[in-house]
Amino acid sequence: MTPDEFRELGHAAVEWVARYWERLPELPVAGSVRPGDVAAELPGAPPDKGDRLEGIFTDLDDVVVPGTTHWQHPAHFAYFPANTSGPSVLGDLIGAGLGTQGMMWATGPACTEVETVMLDWLADLLGLPERFRGGKGVIQDSASSATFIATLAALHRASGGAWRTDGVRGSFAVYTSSQGHSSIEKAARVAGLGDKAVRSIEVDPSSLAMRPEALRAAIEADRAAGVVPALVVATIGTTSTTAVDPLPAIGAICREFGVWLHVDAAYAGAAAACPEFRWINDGLDLADSYCFDPHKWLLTGFDCDALWVADPADLTRALSVLPEFLRNAASESGTVVDYRDWQVPLGRRFRALKLWFVLRWYGVEGIRAHIRDGVALAQRFAAAVRADDRFEVVAPHPFGLVCFRLRGEDDAANETLLRRINETGRCLLTHTKVRGQYVLRLAVGAPSTRTDHIDATWKLIQETA
Ligand SMILES: *Cc1c(COP(=O)(O)O)cnc(C)c1O
Repeated sequence: MTPDEFRELGHAAVEWVARYWERLPELPVAGSVRPGDVAAELPGAPPDKGDRLEGIFTDLDDVVVPGTTHWQHPAHFAYFPANTSGPSVLGDLIGAGLGTQGMMWATGPACTEVETVMLDWLADLLGLPERFRGGKGVIQDSASSATFIATLAALHRASGGAWRTDGVRGSFAVYTSSQGHSSIEKAARVAGLGDKAVRSIEVDPSSLAMRPEALRAAIEADRAAGVVPALVVATIGTTSTTAVDPLPAIGAICREFGVWLHVDAAYAGAAAACPEFRWINDGLDLADSYCFDPHKWLLTGFDCDALWVADPADLTRALSVLPEFLRNAASESGTVVDYRDWQVPLGRRFRALKLWFVLRWYGVEGIRAHIRDGVALAQRFAAAVRADDRFEVVAPHPFGLVCFRLRGEDDAANETLLRRINETGRCLLTHTKVRGQYVLRLAVGAPSTRTDHIDATWKLIQETA
C-alpha cells in the first residue's frame, strides 16, 4: 500500500468510524448473533490475490457491526465502562503508524520518555502521593498484568531476593478481600503459588470492604504456621459493587509485617481526578504499588493500565534479564529507563501517545467534567430506584455503578428481569451476587450517555418489572 493509497483508504476508515459513532444510538446495544454466526459469514481461507480491500466497509457493516456488542453505546451499562474517545483513537493511529518497538530507551527514546512524563501527568491529575512521582510509573496492558507484576516483585522481596534464581521455595501467601478481582487468583496461579496460596479475607457486611482485623488474623495465623505473607491486594472500587477497602488500616498492617501492599483501583482510580474524590487515595502513601485503568473510565481506549511502584528497583531486580543482543551504551550508562524490565513481554508499543492526546484534548477540566457527569447520572438512577418501593439499592454507590434488585423477590425473578430488559436491545446491564443474592448492575461511563438514556432505561426497567 503506497502512502497515497493509504491516504485514500485511511480517510475512508476514519469516515467509517465517525459514521459508526454517529449512528450508535440507533443500534441495538448488543447484537443478537448466535455462536458461529459471524465466523460463518467469512471465507474459510485468505484470498489468493490481494483484493484491494474493495467492499471491506460493506463487510464491516454487514458482518462486524451486527455481531458486535457496542461498548461505546450511550446505553451500554454492562460490566464497567471501556471508554474510548476521538483523541485516543487518533493517538493510537499515530502510534500504529510510527510502529515503534519501545522495549528499551535505545530502541525508542520518545516512546519511553513520553510514557514517563504521561505517567507523571497522571499522578498529578489523580493527586497521588509523592512516593509515586518522578518516573515511578509504567503502562501495562491491563490491571491483571499490573497485579501479576506486583505478585512477582512481592515474591522476590518476601524470599529475601532468592525468588529470581530459585523460583518459589517454601510457602507464601497472598491476601485479598472476598470481593477482590479474579486476576489476583490468576496471578497467584501463574506465579506458581496456586489457588491455595490466596486468602480470601472477610468483608464488612454493609460496606463490603475488607475487615482489617480479619486480615491481621489471617497474617498472624500464616506466620504461626510457617507461611510467609508476601502480598496484600487492597481494592479501591471492587468489581462487583465498587466497595473501597480501608487503606490506612490495611497499610499499617502491611508495614508492621513487612508485606507488599498492591492497590488495585482499576475502575474507580480515575475518580481521583476530581478533588471531591481524593479521599480514595487516603492511605496510598503506605502502598508499594498502585494501578488504575485509563482504559475503563478515563476516555482512553483499551489497552492502557497505569502502574506505579514506590521503588522501581523492586521490579528491575526481580525481572531484568540482559541478553547480549540487547546490550547498549545508553542502558549501561544507567541514565535511562528500559521498560522491558518493568513488564513480562520484551516488546512494547507506543501506548503513551493516546494518553498524551487524551490529556491534551480534554485537559484536567474536561476529564473532571466527564467523571462528574458519570457520577451524577448514576446518582440520578439510584434516586429513581429508591423512589420505587418495588426495588432496593443494595450497596453504597459513590462512583458510577449502582447495584439494585427487586425487593423481596427471589433470584429467578431478578434474573428474568435482567434478561427481558437486555433482550430489547435498548440497554445492556449485567449482574453480580451481593451477600449471596442475585443483583443487577448499572455502570455509567460512556461519554455519550445523557440524562435521557438513564431515564429511558429506568422507565424500561419499571415497565418490565
Ligand atoms: C476491571 C478490573 C480488573 C481487571 O482489569 P483488566 O485491565 O481488564 O485486567 C482488575 N481489578 C478490578 C478491581 C477491576 O474492576
